Amino acid sequence: MHATIQKPIDEIVSYFKPGEKVCIIGCDNCAAKCHSGGIAETEEMANRLKKRGVNVIAWCVPQPPGVSLCKLSNTRKFFLEKYDAQIRDADSFLVLACGQGFHTVIDATEGGLVHPGCDAIFGGESVTEDFIAEYCCLCGECIVDYTGGLCPVTLCAKGLLNGPCGGAKNGKCEVDRNRDCAWQLIYDKLKALGRLDQMKSYIEPKNNARWSRPRSLVLDKGAATFNSLAGDRKIANHE
Ligand code: SF4
Ligand code: SF4
Repeated sequence: MHATIQKPIDEIVSYFKPGEKVCIIGCDNCAAKCHSGGIAETEEMANRLKKRGVNVIAWCVPQPPGVSLCKLSNTRKFFLEKYDAQIRDADSFLVLACGQGFHTVIDATEGGLVHPGCDAIFGGESVTEDFIAEYCCLCGECIVDYTGGLCPVTLCAKGLLNGPCGGAKNGKCEVDRNRDCAWQLIYDKLKALGRLDQMKSYIEPKNNARWSRPRSLVLDKGAATFNSLAGDRKIANHE
């Protein structure tokens, strides 16, 4: 899921020109789970902006319940069926979701003016209803088989592929003593798995071209092609 937080209200208000007719759009999946763009937060944003003098003409959160705003086919259908009139009348859209949802609204409205209402902060795991943690930063070349399933690219402050750095103290990171050292966690995990020998293996530098952006994935009859600056990588899942 994409973790998002709402932008400061003063910044959001500054986006709108006087009289601009605004439709606010939330997301019932990730943004709802982050309490940044679900039904309650979208309605609340509409009320807050109206009080600040913004010309909010409609607000909506594409349904069915739990659906992601970044699912273009659903968002397009929802808009066309339920909000066509308001959308045609709107000068702009304020999106309470991540950048993927943001761009879906550009596409669904065929190039509409879209303002971001949230900052997308990371892709994470909903560990509990109240706690979302970042465990993967989508580098395009996964090496966690060598690290007990824990990602040093994400969990180590320096992103070290071969650690620790030498600054860890009592299992805590030298960059922030309140955080666990990722390489201590990796050591403990490998030890628990009976795979400590992995600590001695050298992990080669990553191919950062696979981390280049923008990237895309093209799906075709069970196969896929991953496109990045590293070149196209075709994956035939069923062979
Ligand atoms: S190595 Fe890359 S793909 Fe694997 S968990 Fe870490 S960031 Fe994600
Ligand atoms: S102390 Fe550990 S987590 Fe922190 S930078 Fe060094 S190796 Fe990475």
